Amino acid sequence: MINNYLVMKAYKRYLITSALPYANGPIHIGHLAGVYIPSDIYTRYLRMKGMDVISVCGSDEHGVPITIKARQEGVSPKDVVDKYHTIIKKSFKDFGIAFDIYARTSSPVHHQTSSEFFRKLYDDGVFIEKTTEQYFDTEVNQFLADRYITGTCPHCTNENAYGDQCEKCGTSLNATDLINPRSTLSGVKPILKPTKHWFLPLDKYQSFLEKWILEDHKEWKVNVYGQCKSWLDHGLQPRAVSRDLDWGVPVPVEGAEGKVLYVWFDAPIGYISATKELTPNWEKYWKDKETRMIHFIGKDNIVFHCIVFPAMLNAEGSFILPDNVPANEFLNLEGDKISTSRNWAVWLHEYLQDFPGKQDVLRYTLTANMPESKDNDFTWKDFQARNNNELVAILGNFVNRAMVLTHKYFEGKVPALGELTDYDRETIAELPKIRVAIEKNLEGFRFRDALREAMNIARLGNKYLADSEPWKLYKTSPERVGTILNIALQVTANIAILLEPILPFSTDKLSQMLNVKDLGWSNGGKLDLLPVGHMVAQPELLFEKVEDIEIENQLAKLLATKEMNQINNHTVTPQKEIITYEDFMKMDIRIGTILNAEVVPKTQKLLKLYVDTGVDKRTVVSGIAECFKPEDLIGKQAAFLVNLEPRKIRGIESNGMILMAQDEGGKLRLVIPNEGVANGSEVK
Ligand SMILES: [Zn+2]
Repeated sequence: MINNYLVMKAYKRYLITSALPYANGPIHIGHLAGVYIPSDIYTRYLRMKGMDVISVCGSDEHGVPITIKARQEGVSPKDVVDKYHTIIKKSFKDFGIAFDIYARTSSPVHHQTSSEFFRKLYDDGVFIEKTTEQYFDTEVNQFLADRYITGTCPHCTNENAYGDQCEKCGTSLNATDLINPRSTLSGVKPILKPTKHWFLPLDKYQSFLEKWILEDHKEWKVNVYGQCKSWLDHGLQPRAVSRDLDWGVPVPVEGAEGKVLYVWFDAPIGYISATKELTPNWEKYWKDKETRMIHFIGKDNIVFHCIVFPAMLNAEGSFILPDNVPANEFLNLEGDKISTSRNWAVWLHEYLQDFPGKQDVLRYTLTANMPESKDNDFTWKDFQARNNNELVAILGNFVNRAMVLTHKYFEGKVPALGELTDYDRETIAELPKIRVAIEKNLEGFRFRDALREAMNIARLGNKYLADSEPWKLYKTSPERVGTILNIALQVTANIAILLEPILPFSTDKLSQMLNVKDLGWSNGGKLDLLPVGHMVAQPELLFEKVEDIEIENQLAKLLATKEMNQINNHTVTPQKEIITYEDFMKMDIRIGTILNAEVVPKTQKLLKLYVDTGVDKRTVVSGIAECFKPEDLIGKQAAFLVNLEPRKIRGIESNGMILMAQDEGGKLRLVIPNEGVANGSEVK
């Protein structure tokens, strides 16, 4: 930890980058817990310390998934990125993510910056130019990059692996590795055709990367260091940095028509172009060794930020390298992997609508459950418990008590600090210790521990008030009550400072209540933040209970998603063997009206229906009681097989069968004519 302090002091300024969200869907809680909340807490902390810091981010708008989404929706790739860039940018802003700029890679500045970057490497002879055989779809007359091709994974036999990766086993693939390749555009088997591309020879940077990561950055998080070591131990291979595609940054080389930069080549350059858009002094953040650059990312981006991008920066020669890449693992939702395509997520823009004014509750829950060293789980019950038992019962309760008692006994004025007891001194002595503990954890990117330490201030305050019992002392020793409340109020001011990076909305509200402004990080731990006689405002509740019904609504929403996915994944049973027309004509199917329906006594599943079939009125027994209430069926028309041989069920003779459609989940639906018809009408 001492090392971290030395490192801190050695740098003049900070450049914080956060993984560019891919503009084919909105932001969800997995993104927030993995990248944006840690980056935001860290940035806010540095700003409070008065550091020169900028935080850059933006939408990643190139690549094959964007073009596929556009094709599926029948719109242009630009329509897709415009739509999601707008949603993402707004939700970040409303959630309080404090980027200095949120740019986009379709901007002219970015096209120019990444184009120049490529050209510099090209002119310096960094790339290997290679003509290789790539899959080509003869129907649509197009080369098939990455996700335009699917086939069977050679490692796990998943039949829907992509040309760049198998999502089932996680292996990164080349399209030519796939067994039975198919074009996702036309479904045909593609042919191999020669095409020229530019490769970054990562193998040439192997020894540079080995020294830089494995020797010079042993302080990196274990998960990050371990993944890098594994890549390096396998030996790096040249990697293509261009694609045959019409959406992206055109390869700035003569004869490269129809080719664009590989999205993973241009995306990290997006950090540079965002900085350029932010400030004309962008070079001091990118080219001065006294700048400390930190990449906040999720674990799926480690190879690109620790291996590929540093190799690019090293090849270019004038840029600094990241000093740390604190990647997080993944967050799951209710025990299941978060997935944009399966809509299994809590979407930020929906959360902000469903829980207005409760940004900090989500920030708190996601920080407390941050997947820092292993995958972690978000559940709505935990969200509710953390709000009700921690934010409301500990933090909110303490602040409210201190404020209410100050108004009750001292008309809202900070009372004088009298003689201190040993217990007062012990309590006060904790504050600077807690501040140091929070700092150590923030510097080490351990945000969960930082939050736990910060909440210890509220715990300390609660315990202090409960032990000191000022409400029992006012009659006999009002001065002693003044001392207790002075200390309690100074503790609330410490909360306003030390919790600000994590809970900026609530601490802002608290500062307003305390009638103070911009206390600054350096005041954390102090006991003279509120002078005697200073007037505090009327208390308001910082947090309110999350009720059961709100949680039930969210769980119902997820359940509906699950059911929808089941329907979408419904595997249709194969067609039965061919029958003759005569076979079919043997069945006599009629439309009838259900005149009466009742549950067969002592059964759960059976309904006894009395039906007007047009032919006659008869009894039909059917095992549908779990899907229909008798009263919902009475008066309804349905289709009946009327010439099925009679059968005794539970002592009741059933004459025929009611026809039903059954879905994947086992749900039954009546087969009903779209308009009423006469009973006895034949179905044929
Ligand atoms: Zn696989």
